Amino acid sequence: MAGTLLLAACIPNSGRPSKAPKRPPQAQADPGRITHQCHADLTREGVKFKALPDRSFGGGCTALGAVQLLEIGTPVTNLGAMTCPLARGFARWTREAVQPSARVWLGSPVARIESFGSYSCRPVNGQSGNKLSEHGRANAVDVSAFVLADGRRITVLDAWSGRDEKVRKFLRAVHDAGCRRFQVAMGPDSNGFHRNHFHFDLGPWPYCR
Ligand SMILES: [Zn+2]
Repeated sequence: MAGTLLLAACIPNSGRPSKAPKRPPQAQADPGRITHQCHADLTREGVKFKALPDRSFGGGCTALGAVQLLEIGTPVTNLGAMTCPLARGFARWTREAVQPSARVWLGSPVARIESFGSYSCRPVNGQSGNKLSEHGRANAVDVSAFVLADGRRITVLDAWSGRDEKVRKFLRAVHDAGCRRFQVAMGPDSNGFHRNHFHFDLGPWPYCR
């Protein structure tokens, strides 16, 4: 299966809405002010990051109000531009869900999170004519694996339905935490395109599966 196809299919087109829309009131407000507040939040929370210049790449693809995360307390592979609110949510998810869940279920901290990346200019499902994926706005991130301090490597692909119950519970705990922190959280139960990663985004439509 082509990796590009898997990566291209990161927006839901079926399944249950998870909750009422929770787009915050400040979504109507000045984007510059939102970004400024988000930078302040990251700094206060001890996150090291680089603010990126606003970019438009053609085809509707943009990276506006984006940052490059440099240090969130846990190394993460493959992250590129992320809108600041997505980056803030991701750093909090790592700190407040991934690490505590690993201690509870696995008895070891997470030494590294592996991602398939964040920004990527592509339409939903890679099909021309489909609307732009949130990845094309630097507003989505795909997480594929967790490497533990004790050396174990837990991949969404192998472990979601694997034999180790504690590992399965860990993965569900961090997926469910993603549902609470992001607008969209998708994993292997959503569709075949997500059998090997969790997709999180801050697009307009809430969805959790
Ligand atoms: Zn995705």
